Amino acid sequence: MSLDSDLAQRSLRAVWHPCTQMARAAQLPPLPIARGEGPWLFDTAGRRYFDANSSWWVNLFGHSDEGLRAAIARQLHTLPHVMLAGCTHEPAVRLAERLAARTGGALGHASFASDGASAVEIALKMSFHYWKNREAGGTGPQRDAFVCLKNSYHGETIGALAVTDVQIFRDAYAPLLTQSHTVASPDARLGNEDAAIDALRDLLERERGRIAAVIVEPLVQGAAGMVMHAPSYLKRLRALATAHGVHLIADEIAVGFGRTGSFYAWEQADAPWPDFLLLSKGITGGTLPLSVVLTTDAVFDAFWSDDVARGFLHSHSYTGNALACAAANAVLDRFDAGQVEANRQQAQFLADAFAPLAAHPRVEHLRQRGMILAFDVRSAGDRFSERFHLAARRHELLIRPIGDTVYLMPPYLIDEAAAVFLAGAVGRTLGEVVDEVIADAA
Ligand SMILES: *Cc1c(COP(=O)(O)O)cnc(C)c1O
Repeated sequence: MSLDSDLAQRSLRAVWHPCTQMARAAQLPPLPIARGEGPWLFDTAGRRYFDANSSWWVNLFGHSDEGLRAAIARQLHTLPHVMLAGCTHEPAVRLAERLAARTGGALGHASFASDGASAVEIALKMSFHYWKNREAGGTGPQRDAFVCLKNSYHGETIGALAVTDVQIFRDAYAPLLTQSHTVASPDARLGNEDAAIDALRDLLERERGRIAAVIVEPLVQGAAGMVMHAPSYLKRLRALATAHGVHLIADEIAVGFGRTGSFYAWEQADAPWPDFLLLSKGITGGTLPLSVVLTTDAVFDAFWSDDVARGFLHSHSYTGNALACAAANAVLDRFDAGQVEANRQQAQFLADAFAPLAAHPRVEHLRQRGMILAFDVRSAGDRFSERFHLAARRHELLIRPIGDTVYLMPPYLIDEAAAVFLAGAVGRTLGEVVDEVIADAA
């Protein structure tokens, strides 16, 4: 047995892979990856693949980036971790200050966790508890429901799953999930922004006093298949939430850190800040797990009390891990040095290289928001995503379409040559998969 298939087989026996039906993985074993360098991943047989999805959207500057490596190593030699209850440390404080400064101080209080779903849990709990603290002794109904958008994705722990509108992830656990309402999502392909706003307004009026918060993925609903909306929707959403006195949670776990053309996607909304803003994924450039919930003075003050139980007692063992915070500060250094401006040029390279693909007879709705580019494939055929993924590997491309939507969310390392390579590899892969579909139909 060759070395790589041996590692894959050991993995199938010992490792329960995420987002994977293991019986299917037995027929389609995982790629054994040995190392990464820049945008490239190398398997144990020495073949290379361009990481076009940034390893599930986390990798910003390539694999094994020297600056991040050095920042983590320095921290490793000083203080890898200390509990954040009763102690504090420079990397966490500095990170909280810098993220707050990028909101002009509007979101000046940071809670840390280790992954996106846990950040969502924190925001939901904080919002619920805020209303409870505020309305203690009140006679109104409890605000125990949340609103999310159609096809939203906010993670897969029990709380986060309650605001995740993806049937395949939800259905098995439906009896365990808390109350939530799903409203129409704005989708630029459908031009339905007015209808989406009307649906939300109707719901907020109907459920007056029962809703704690609305949660949204600003500008791009990633897991829905890179569904994009105009910034004007966010502005209207902010106004609606304020008018109805409910919290607004901006889940920027996928779209923060320069992904959509600004540091925070929300900057493009031209509206007051949300009540909560969540970050993870790109925060450490794909090196260490970390997430942050940023919130306002108003929320923070509602927990300030002599009564311990009115406090926000949520904790994780690795809250504010110093290694992860040091990595995040190194990531912020890049943004201080002009990463958003650099991304504008990189996004243009992608736009130029992929433009000819719009004329392909199977390509629909070629769309882009900053460093996210996507298109839908018409009559894609059965198991398109898997077939495209496998075919792409033969073209040195690691890419996982969502349903019939092919997307790129590459590391911020795109020069003209890289953009041309990606467009070429995607075009050749599409050609092969389309030929397969035609052959199947014959
Ligand atoms: C990935 C993601 C999450 C969940 O983050 P995990 O770290 O995978 O738990 C939540 N919200 C959005 C928008 C995401 O893309």
